[in-house]
Amino acid sequence: MGGMVSAIYLSIGSNGVGPDGAAPARMTQRAMEKILAMEGAGEIGRGRLYHTEPQGKTDQPWFVNSALALRMQIEPIRLLHRLQDIEKELGRTPGERWGPRVIDIDIIFIDDVVMTTEELTIPHPLASQRRFVLAPLADIDPGLAHPVSGKTVAELLAALPADAQPIRLIDPSTETP
Ligand code: AMP
Repeated sequence: MGGMVSAIYLSIGSNGVGPDGAAPARMTQRAMEKILAMEGAGEIGRGRLYHTEPQGKTDQPWFVNSALALRMQIEPIRLLHRLQDIEKELGRTPGERWGPRVIDIDIIFIDDVVMTTEELTIPHPLASQRRFVLAPLADIDPGLAHPVSGKTVAELLAALPADAQPIRLIDPSTETP
């Protein structure tokens, strides 16, 4: 698979300010720029920005979430490591697990790849359950199909109760990152 260009779908989120005080929406956009600046990366599309309620540990600020799709020739594990480097460059530090996160980048899909290793599971195991992942992916391509269930991101999104996972579109005309 070394020579193949893949279609890669990423989820990006932030609920903490950057080292320079940049707000979460700004951090999300910075992550997109850095990812697209990787050598050989080409943009397919970007999701809109959303404010989303934290899942799991709820006593923390709401997140900003979006999604990015790109074309690139890269092994999945190498991609994970490149994205982890970008998280560090953007100011993510270890021990952030239980507090606000400066930036979080997850690999959701790579073509129709289905794989599980200790380090990496693709598709991302929680993707189908999370409105904050599915809504920005549906902005890019509502017909994008999950390689295991065959359901589209629009179908998966519609199947989740909206009131259990509030998300709110950020209006770019009134909210400048
Ligand atoms: P997090 O704290 O949410 O950033 O989780 C990061 C950990 O999840 C890393 O140690 C990765 O090895 C692991 N991981 C497993 N599958 C994925 C995936 N699809 N995308 C990103 N990280 C993953």
